[in-house]
Amino acid sequence: MGAVNEVFDVLVIGGGPVGGYTAQKVAEAGRDVAILEEHREIGEPVQCGGIFTPRVMDMVDCRNTILTDIHGCEFYSPSGRELVVDGGETEAVVVDRAAFDREVVKGALHAGATVYLGTLATGVERDGGDLIVHARGNGEAETFRCKVLVGTDGVKGNVTGWFGLGRPYRILPGFEADVVGAEYTSGYVKVFTGQAVAPGFFAWLVPGARTARAGLCLGQGNARPYLNRMFTDGPPSRFLANAQTLGYITGGIPIGVAKRTYDNGVMIAGDAAFQAKATSGGGIFTGLVCAEACARTAVEALNAGDTSAAFLSRYETRWKKAIGKELSLYLYLHRAFVKLSDPQLENLFMLLQNPRLLRIINQQGDIDYPGRAILALLKEEPRLLKFLGPALRAVF
Ligand SMILES: Cc1cc2nc3c(=O)[nH]c(=O)nc-3n(C[C@H](O)[C@H](O)[C@H](O)COP(=O)(O)OP(=O)(O)OC[C@H]3O[C@@H](n4cnc5c(N)ncnc54)[C@H](O)[C@@H]3O)c2cc1C
Repeated sequence: MGAVNEVFDVLVIGGGPVGGYTAQKVAEAGRDVAILEEHREIGEPVQCGGIFTPRVMDMVDCRNTILTDIHGCEFYSPSGRELVVDGGETEAVVVDRAAFDREVVKGALHAGATVYLGTLATGVERDGGDLIVHARGNGEAETFRCKVLVGTDGVKGNVTGWFGLGRPYRILPGFEADVVGAEYTSGYVKVFTGQAVAPGFFAWLVPGARTARAGLCLGQGNARPYLNRMFTDGPPSRFLANAQTLGYITGGIPIGVAKRTYDNGVMIAGDAAFQAKATSGGGIFTGLVCAEACARTAVEALNAGDTSAAFLSRYETRWKKAIGKELSLYLYLHRAFVKLSDPQLENLFMLLQNPRLLRIINQQGDIDYPGRAILALLKEEPRLLKFLGPALRAVF
């Protein structure tokens, strides 16, 4: 095993928002916690559109990273038919994602956590009840001992793999461009649908501060040609014809249901546990909710002197109670959505154009908890069942 350099109660692998928030909560409870982050800078490279609901700001003080507020969405059908949804108040915010990640990790450091930058976790072994994590930090081999290991290493999910905690149902490939010169309506996100635009998911145009982010995810395959096409063909090109690109962002969003999110002395959270929403790809709010449950469970386990899988299973009970039903609903909605052909999408747009339905969406729509609005929509317009039926039957 070799000499162990550092010893912590909790070791968090991955210094993204979920790892940072987990570490903050553990440190606030007075436990020794460290984050290992493979990159030399928190927040880089950016792999995200940086849009989430204001609920996140109740958890992380990140108002200084907000680029703009969002209160509505302009949806486009494959043929370019427009459907405007407007909640009338701030429904979401767009943040500078790199700055946001740094704010989260700053919170952890202020609470007393330690961060090791440029430190890639490469393997793990058990030693009695402890875990020994092997890493490479700035070219040197390092080892860390801990009682509880938390895997928040994102889409790579090394910890998930090391402990056989499952594989994602799918990793949605995403590609985005930061652009100047796009036409957008301030306060609105544009969402584009259709096989030619983004098969298996959707494309978007998100306003920022003097810039915008054009991007998309696919069900599978190479997203780059579809991003290029947004500038030249179909409904997105109407808004991007004069846009110039400042830079690109690429990444994958793992969706699905983890086999388990704990093992003896181990928990996984965030993208490592496929906790992003399968409908929108948003993983920050859901990841932070799970991080809170994870940190609480880690601290309780340490206090009880019991880090067994049986004890840590309460983490899974907690996050499922908080957000599990929604995550399942998102996954089934995703599965139902990807089956829709372009003509079916056009029909869906036509149905939703009904002012009564739009009123329900505007008044009851909640990006984080969509179940209530969906049920109200179905009650008002049972023909929607044709599109959502399989998803809802599976969940309820
Ligand atoms: C194109 C795209 C757009 C998106 N847009 C949005 C959006 O608008 N809103 C939203 O809410 N979500 C969005 N997401 C999803 C969101 O980015 C993720 O859900 C979120 O980043 C998950 O946070 P995390 O902390 O779990 O993982 P990450 O943010 O991925 O952090 C994981 C960290 O672990 C580190 N790491 C990995 N392996 C190791 C290792 N072996 N050792 C040490 N460190 C390691 C990585 O370097 C990384 O810093 C988007 C994703 C993509 C791909």
